[in-house]
Amino acid sequence: VKLHVDDDDLASCVSCGLCLPHCPTYRVVAEESASPRGRIAIIRQIHLEDAPLDDERIGYLEACVQCRACETACPSGVPYGRLIEGAKHTLAAQGRITPRWQRAAYRVLGHHRVLVAGSRALAVAQRLRLVPRRFALPRLPLRAEPLSPSVGRPGSEPVWLFTGCVMDAWQRDVHAAVQRVLEAAGAGVALPGRGGDCCGALHQHAGLSADARRLAERVMSAFPGDAPILVDSAGCGAALKDYGVLVGTREAERFAARVLDVHEWLAPRVDRLRPATGTRPRVVVQDPCHLRHVQKAHLPVRTVLGVVAEVVELDDDGMCCGAGGAYATLQPTMAAEVRARKLDAIAQAGGGTVASANPGCQLHLAAAGVAAAHPLVIVDRLLHGA
Ligand code: SF4
Ligand code: SF4
Repeated sequence: VKLHVDDDDLASCVSCGLCLPHCPTYRVVAEESASPRGRIAIIRQIHLEDAPLDDERIGYLEACVQCRACETACPSGVPYGRLIEGAKHTLAAQGRITPRWQRAAYRVLGHHRVLVAGSRALAVAQRLRLVPRRFALPRLPLRAEPLSPSVGRPGSEPVWLFTGCVMDAWQRDVHAAVQRVLEAAGAGVALPGRGGDCCGALHQHAGLSADARRLAERVMSAFPGDAPILVDSAGCGAALKDYGVLVGTREAERFAARVLDVHEWLAPRVDRLRPATGTRPRVVVQDPCHLRHVQKAHLPVRTVLGVVAEVVELDDDGMCCGAGGAYATLQPTMAAEVRARKLDAIAQAGGGTVASANPGCQLHLAAAGVAAAHPLVIVDRLLHGA
């Protein structure tokens, strides 16, 4: 079977194995096929040697968290993310991965009103104790206060805040905290209208590239003008920054160039933030893979957090926490084993509050009892005493 991958990308791996110790799934199972080099070999076998698309090979590809730590580690610059996304695109097109029920769930993400209404129904069911604990869902809000735009305030810098799909339905309070911090740093915040919600990241990870492109077109038209587009979810930010490649037009490239992780915008403006108190609690920083390995924008988180807190580093070389978008739901055993290593690193760092700039990571850690919060929720609390 010919996979949707570039032969030069595939040939760029020289099988040196330097990526292996950086791969979370290899660290758990210590099997070559569960490593980046092993997965690239599987893609080669299928694409170049016509090896059968058997369950075993597909299973190893599906067990990849798509954290892209292997890209950071690779001295040959192998674009592993492109390879696995291309392979999954073909597997999904052939109906070998992402079954119908998953496609239906992904489709809901693009219908924001349905998603919000469904989340509310789930919140009610939680209050009635009708949702089994094994689903490890966070406590969902019964009602979320609408956000109010502040763009146009005299003297403010105009910015867009990307609010997303699940995050807006489940964690609008995080957006509210982010907006307060942005305004304290001089921003006038604009909010997207209809269609500016789902970025398509989960669709792209699942091999549903056509759906991801449709959502990208819709998102791009919801953010007119040239103001920066700030994102407080690392996974969404990585997807939005990749629209130039995904959509392949000049307009998409221009859009992608406007996208910043919210900490990237704040870091050069931190002198405008004045802490309410002199106390500086210690906060452990956990880097979401899509911030560290994909956007390479993890350092500004430290600059912003450092205004109000003593930043504590984890000694695990930015290893994935196992959340991986929908991965924690689809591959719960591996996700829990990967997370166990992160929990050890957090314990070694002395525990306490953990800052994570991605809602998926934050919820995945919180489900294991970690006091995890978005970095700007912590900053907002310490700035405004909320
Ligand atoms: S992906 Fe890079 S680091 Fe890993 S085996 Fe291939 S060339 Fe080496
Ligand atoms: S993306 Fe992450 S899980 Fe997948 S092969 Fe690379 S390092 Fe391993």
